[in-house]
Amino acid sequence: MSPLLWCLVALAPFIVLSEQHPTNHASQTHVLKASGETHKTYIPSRFAPSTNKRGTTQPLNCTVRSQLDITWDPSVTIPKQVRDPVSLATKIWSCILGSTIPIRVFIGWAPLGSGWTLAHTSTSSWKARTGPLSRAWYPKPLYNKLLGADIDPTSYDCSLTLNSDWDSKFYYGLDGATPDDFLDLTTIVLHEMCHCFAFTGFAWVNDTMSEAYFLYNGYPAQFDRFIVDKFPKGDLVYRNYQDGSADLLKVYQGNNLGWQGVVARLYAPEEYSDGSSIYHFDEELYPPGNPNSLMTPQLGFAEAVHDPGPLCESVMVSMGWTTTPV
Ligand SMILES: [Zn+2]
Repeated sequence: MSPLLWCLVALAPFIVLSEQHPTNHASQTHVLKASGETHKTYIPSRFAPSTNKRGTTQPLNCTVRSQLDITWDPSVTIPKQVRDPVSLATKIWSCILGSTIPIRVFIGWAPLGSGWTLAHTSTSSWKARTGPLSRAWYPKPLYNKLLGADIDPTSYDCSLTLNSDWDSKFYYGLDGATPDDFLDLTTIVLHEMCHCFAFTGFAWVNDTMSEAYFLYNGYPAQFDRFIVDKFPKGDLVYRNYQDGSADLLKVYQGNNLGWQGVVARLYAPEEYSDGSSIYHFDEELYPPGNPNSLMTPQLGFAEAVHDPGPLCESVMVSMGWTTTPV
């Protein structure tokens, strides 16, 4: 048998039997909000030279480990100054995540209202019916990385929309010297891309706020397989709670949710907040200036975080990504 034929035979069980998750599932859209507070802090990328202080910009020192392709929404005019922060965030992630399959990100620019929402992200998920990728739904970039092939070359791996209503308050510099009443765009893009890469799942709560859910077609998302009901140590939610139960809602609103691949506390405020609860690190435990603060649900004015931090990277590794060793 020719090498090409062997390759096709080897991939067939995954490609043919895979399913796409609908992209309109509400819990797959994640938002980053402005906190309204000012926290003048800067965490540089660990690939920046050690002398990289707030207010200075030097090239990143890293080996690129994956290819991130950006497509700009052709239907709108996106200000040119948006490109540099997006490019820096793209480079930081491509220094960290290893994949042989290009990751394709669609960037939109749209009025999302003058509320606190800065950006949102949506992604599609995939699951094989047989084989090692059959236990959970995987966000497409991670699925592709583990499969070693692009399950659907016709679709984007991630759709990221920046709120153009905040245009005048975005900081477009790359040096972390974000002024007191501005929001660092590099941080916003880094954060939202992380959701696309796997920091996402199916948790949601019904309209009457009486029951909570975490399954789609009987299976959890890969991220959800690691959620535990107590921090720092608890029982796995997907094994111990019924989908669509009041008990699960209590856990989602218990302010004590954990992630057990690494010891991390998730954001689970007493009032469930769609788009913010569950798929963020706890804002209180990882406040502005903390090395693990990139994936908290809110961003302060003057707060710049140009590194995912060790906890976030460990979360990605636990789910199947390979990363540059810290
Ligand atoms: Zn977020």
